[in-house]
Amino acid sequence: MTVDTLITGGQLVQPEGILETSIAIDGEEIAAVGSESDLPEADEVVDASGKLVLPGAVDVHVHLDDHFSNDTYETASKAAVLGGTTTIVDFAWQAWVGDVSLFDEESTLLEGVDRKQAKAENALVDYSLHGAITREDSAVFEELPELVDRGVTSIKMFTAYEFGLSNGFINEVLQHAADHDLVAVFHTEDSSICEVITEQFKREDKGDPEYYPKSRPDLAEAMAADSAIRMAMAADCRYYGIHTTSRKAAEVIDAHRRDNHDMIRAETCTQYTVADDSLFEDVGLLPMAAPPLRKPDDNDAMFEHLDRGTIDVVSTDHCGFTRDQKQVYPWWEGTFGMNSLQRSLPVFHDEAVAERGFRLPFLVRKLAANPARVFGMPEKGTLEPGTHADIVVFDPDDTSPIDPEDNASMSDFSVYEGREVGSVEKTFVRGELVADDGEIVGPPGHGEFVEREIPTWRN
Ligand SMILES: [Zn+2]
Repeated sequence: MTVDTLITGGQLVQPEGILETSIAIDGEEIAAVGSESDLPEADEVVDASGKLVLPGAVDVHVHLDDHFSNDTYETASKAAVLGGTTTIVDFAWQAWVGDVSLFDEESTLLEGVDRKQAKAENALVDYSLHGAITREDSAVFEELPELVDRGVTSIKMFTAYEFGLSNGFINEVLQHAADHDLVAVFHTEDSSICEVITEQFKREDKGDPEYYPKSRPDLAEAMAADSAIRMAMAADCRYYGIHTTSRKAAEVIDAHRRDNHDMIRAETCTQYTVADDSLFEDVGLLPMAAPPLRKPDDNDAMFEHLDRGTIDVVSTDHCGFTRDQKQVYPWWEGTFGMNSLQRSLPVFHDEAVAERGFRLPFLVRKLAANPARVFGMPEKGTLEPGTHADIVVFDPDDTSPIDPEDNASMSDFSVYEGREVGSVEKTFVRGELVADDGEIVGPPGHGEFVEREIPTWRN
């Protein structure tokens, strides 16, 4: 027998450890792992000597082609594969009508799934969706069984913004979500605290960028996380906290997790591990997102809690906006979100492994294995034979400064500009080489919708 591709000579990084061995790809799957002499002949041999062979990153928090992002599935997929990400999870929105909405009329969650699947026709990476509930309408409860049937096994709720939900409605949603074993995904900020400070800053004409992070304090994040976790635990519903940014919020999650380990999971984003609020003085509003960048001590706290297991996942919260869209003053007229998809793996590698001395399996757990397991994608985030051949060849020693000129996203800046990071040399999605030495070589449309299972969280 022959296989399609052998990758030889590299260090294979698994969640549990590192193997100096080779890996065989056949069709869409990993055929075998072992020494080259034990593996079948291949049509193509990739020499990965001196390089790392990683499972492709699984980014479970990205925003594409909606009010949070001008990136299409095509532009964002290119950014993803150039950066070593092979699976993404975007949001299917229940349409609402409002100031920041792009919708003219309300529609259902399932229509939101249809809408995003249609937009994803040209995806190069595999993708899935979280259902995002934006309105307090109990009709949504009737949609949950079909949502699960369609492989959308998580729902997202916000405690802030115009589509934020009251605690009363969230509490009700959680009972229904628990009945269907859905994972409840939360953006947590106490909106009244953020709104009152914002109004005060408007009166005081504090519109310069450095005031923005002060308008959404860490206690607002911690308070809302505490409330949401309490409601989820009372409903016996699994809780996933997105974009944890602060020591205070991480401590809240940690405290609840001691009693409810199998019911709580959490995420931070690359930017919250490497950047702090001093960046607003350097680059203006480019890094404006909610919750905001915090302090250097909060960066340290993200690593402490990633290390002890309070925080399982590192994602990006990728939003595709241009420099012009971001540099709007005063800050309260501005746009939330920053692009990070193309830089997440190289930047997190540089910070976690090169700077802070974490081992490579830690990187693979946080970027690939954990997000895949937390969200019910057993074929993803691993280099086990029989799973999807989503593989990245990464050279940590071939460093160069991040240059936004190289962005595949329609977003023309990077908050990591100038940072020296290693290079993603090859990216395979389900066995197909889609990015090679900084060039896109895969066909648009190669990406497929991942129907997610109900995950098991016992470990
Ligand atoms: Zn987000």
